[in-house]
Amino acid sequence: MIFDYIQYGSRTIQFRLVYVNRKSLGITVTPDLEVLVKAPTHAKLEIIKDKIIKKAPWIIKQQSLFLSFQPITPQRRYVSGETHLYLGRQYRLKIIKAKLNPKSDVVKLKGQFIEVHTSDLSKVKMMVDNWYLSKAKAIIKPLAENLFNNFIKRNKLKVSSFQFSFRSMPTRWGSCTAKGKIIINPELIKAPKLCIEYVIIHELCHLIYHDHTQKFIELQTKHLKDWEKRKMKLERFMA
Ligand SMILES: [Zn+2]
Repeated sequence: MIFDYIQYGSRTIQFRLVYVNRKSLGITVTPDLEVLVKAPTHAKLEIIKDKIIKKAPWIIKQQSLFLSFQPITPQRRYVSGETHLYLGRQYRLKIIKAKLNPKSDVVKLKGQFIEVHTSDLSKVKMMVDNWYLSKAKAIIKPLAENLFNNFIKRNKLKVSSFQFSFRSMPTRWGSCTAKGKIIINPELIKAPKLCIEYVIIHELCHLIYHDHTQKFIELQTKHLKDWEKRKMKLERFMA
């Protein structure tokens, strides 16, 4: 197997080449945007590259179609070896079949693994989801409370108590209600801490401005100078 690339205008297109026993060249774009080229055993690399260049507009179109219709992260299957994110790092799932004792069912972080010990393999997804939620509660909530306390002090706000909850939202990371309650998507625990802080501060700024006008942006910049960088990182990361 060969990894190589071609240049098409300003774009570099990487491809994976395998030689197979066939007569013509086959080019496919996989849903994770990889370009897979199957070439006849004796085909010359320059000729293969020429053909890929000719197909480049089609390849780019396929890649952008996949980008707009599905996330890069493939559907999770909750099997051993699969990668899962936690605080911006990738971990591998390791599923360990435990003796028939549901009490010993546990999820723990060990080195680069998320270990799931369970007597019932059908519970893996539920256990991992619950583990993420408990981590979100243990890490995001106190972080948000700290940032909230600093925020109200710095802006001399008369807000008596910190109102906060988690809610799964398919298209957003957080929201702030008219009554000043901060709601965070627990999925955010998968993102780097810098990005979690950005989402919380963004929502805190909505305690003062409920829209995204210039004043809102100024306030957000006052509290987090590099918010744009963090926002971009979050978008790249969780795409
Ligand atoms: Zn907003």
